[in-house]
Amino acid sequence: MHWESDVTYSASGPGPAIRSCPNPTCGWDAWETELYDRDASEFDCPRCGRYRMSGMLIGVLRAGVHDPADERLLPYLSAYAKQASAAGNVPVLDTSNWRDHARAHANTPVAMKLEKLLTAFRTRSSHLGAVIKIVPVDDAPLADAANSEELLVFLGELRRRGDIEWPLAAEPGSANQQVETTREPVTRGRITVQGWGRVEAPLHAGGEPYMAKQLDAFICHAGEDKTAAALPLAERLRAMGYEVWYDNFMIKMGDSLRRKIDEGLVRSRFGVVILSRAFFAKEWPQKELDGLVAREIAGVKVILPVWHGIDAAGVVAKSPTLADRVAARMEEGLDEVVRKIVEVLGPPRGRASRRRDPPDPRRSLRCAIESGSK
Ligand SMILES: [Zn+2]
Repeated sequence: MHWESDVTYSASGPGPAIRSCPNPTCGWDAWETELYDRDASEFDCPRCGRYRMSGMLIGVLRAGVHDPADERLLPYLSAYAKQASAAGNVPVLDTSNWRDHARAHANTPVAMKLEKLLTAFRTRSSHLGAVIKIVPVDDAPLADAANSEELLVFLGELRRRGDIEWPLAAEPGSANQQVETTREPVTRGRITVQGWGRVEAPLHAGGEPYMAKQLDAFICHAGEDKTAAALPLAERLRAMGYEVWYDNFMIKMGDSLRRKIDEGLVRSRFGVVILSRAFFAKEWPQKELDGLVAREIAGVKVILPVWHGIDAAGVVAKSPTLADRVAARMEEGLDEVVRKIVEVLGPPRGRASRRRDPPDPRRSLRCAIESGSK
């Protein structure tokens, strides 16, 4: 959801336009009086989402709430409305139901508020590592936070847990930055691999609990390249003590490349993508290929392209940006490909933890080659 335009909300259907949201915690100064005679009006507000409010409730709220308990519930009108509209409904608030809805959101346990926030960030992240815009005043209702200050506390807690990186600097001079100077304070963040695992894990079969990443790498490949490239590469790396996955990462026509890569990165530190004629024959949308190039987590490149039976001209034809990122070429020989990958992976972690000094990757490589040649 983007709310770049000037803040002008209008009631749907015939009737006069109003210039602010009827929820008093949203700012109701600018509203026009004709509206509350109508039975129910629909509003679309950056903070509250899309919802309908009965004319009676608008009148009651406008007259002012005097009960302190009701006063405390007011911010949670936005929470109810925004979360229901995010789920695709147009909730209706009237004098008979508003307290119940608001109270339910006010009483959410804090741990669950944090989960709601992380889940909201997941839905607005196009992929793992994506930088997302956070407008605390507008986003507070997503996490059942009473206000933007409380949301900032939640953001700090998610960061402390290691689930998000926040705040991130805005790209200087970007068009967004210009727009933002005239709007509510905007901050940027992104979900870490750990946070991603926490929100994605329940989506996997069996509701398997969240586990820290255990794998060093996965190998994304076309089925045609399994025996010639993916399998030998995986076996060589495994022989050196790395945890490598390849079987789940055979890609088919119609798969979302980005989705597959994100799944792999939840459990793996790096992804190796075998670029070949068979790979490009899957006719990836340009956007998906270009998306592979800049995949970085905390400034570290996490996608390592390996060219297999294809030359620069072949890659350039499909994705000029991808052609600039060569990690290794199978034509240089498996040893060389493995050496380059190991340079990035670092020593196998299982072994490193049992030794005082991390092993020299080259020595490990020699061991692997010797044992492989028996
Ligand atoms: Zn509002």
